[in-house]
Amino acid sequence: MRLFGASLLKNMLDIVYFSGLSRLFKPIAQGDGIIFMLHHILPDAIQDKAKFRPNGLLEITPEFLEQVIIYLQANDYEIISLDEAERRLNNCTVKGRKPYIIFTIDDGYVDNLEHAYPIFKKYNCPFTIYVATDLCDHKLFMWWRALDAVIRDNLAVEFNAFGIKIDKPTRNVEEKYAAYNEIYWQLRDMGEVEKRGAVLALAQKYNFDPLEETKSVAMSWQQVKQLGQDELVTIGAHTMSHSAIAKLSDADAKTEIEHSRQIIHDKTGILCEHFCYPYGSAAEANLREFKFAQQAGYKTAVTTQKGMLYAGHKAHLYALPRVSLNGDFQHIRYVKTYILGLPFMLWNRFRKIHKY
Ligand SMILES: [Zn+2]
Repeated sequence: MRLFGASLLKNMLDIVYFSGLSRLFKPIAQGDGIIFMLHHILPDAIQDKAKFRPNGLLEITPEFLEQVIIYLQANDYEIISLDEAERRLNNCTVKGRKPYIIFTIDDGYVDNLEHAYPIFKKYNCPFTIYVATDLCDHKLFMWWRALDAVIRDNLAVEFNAFGIKIDKPTRNVEEKYAAYNEIYWQLRDMGEVEKRGAVLALAQKYNFDPLEETKSVAMSWQQVKQLGQDELVTIGAHTMSHSAIAKLSDADAKTEIEHSRQIIHDKTGILCEHFCYPYGSAAEANLREFKFAQQAGYKTAVTTQKGMLYAGHKAHLYALPRVSLNGDFQHIRYVKTYILGLPFMLWNRFRKIHKY
């Protein structure tokens, strides 16, 4: 759910866009398709450096989403479903065609229904929501939001447990970001149990109730079912507990991948055929997880590795790359640059298929 190296990518995108290099390299860089990754679509997802909003990169405005769709449709890009993308990958695409676009939204937030769905519906665009079942059961502890809230609401954070030692002033935006970034990456490297234990203890110490937060932002099963009844919407699975699956035992990893699909079916009657690895980096989803997703019978599974889809992804349907429509990059020039492919060619050092 969170991206690596955002500032480095931003510099690269600006150079590529303003130099005109992306058009020059289009014949070799542009792939067959691109899967966009979104999380929250919120009216107040405005970039503001004066505000502490460390998870703002996961939020875009409905207006930006609409602007992207209008641009893509006006320029003859086809917005297709994941099922159609899987068919095209398996049957090889026609050369010379503009890349197709797939929209995916992770986790299962209620803003997807309130703010994204009306826009996709207005423009008749298919899209996918990957649901973490514990979120819809209102029992998912979103540790990244708890950390955000504790630092936002306090002038200092002091904590020493679970191998984490924090003693930081958090009086202003700069101090809050410095503390958040340091603690976030320590947590991200920890095992699931230790990480959740640490943030839960931190949240309790600072009187933050993470499950109240979950209730206020998560879709209910009724809402998931309602969305899934629209043929524009694909419901995919995103584990039960939103764990970094690579850090789990074989048995637990398989349960997260297989059982989440069963729960979605039991709660909504929807058959899930697509899967999304939480966090999605190589440290959090790798060869073992790709094998498990394939064995579970999914048609595709997506990571958060950056990149376009190329013909070679036919052999890597359980490790498909995506491109974040990121809250820090809410300008149409970035989207114009993404779909020509060069930024990801450079980012991946001219590899079309990520090497695991
Ligand atoms: Zn997620």
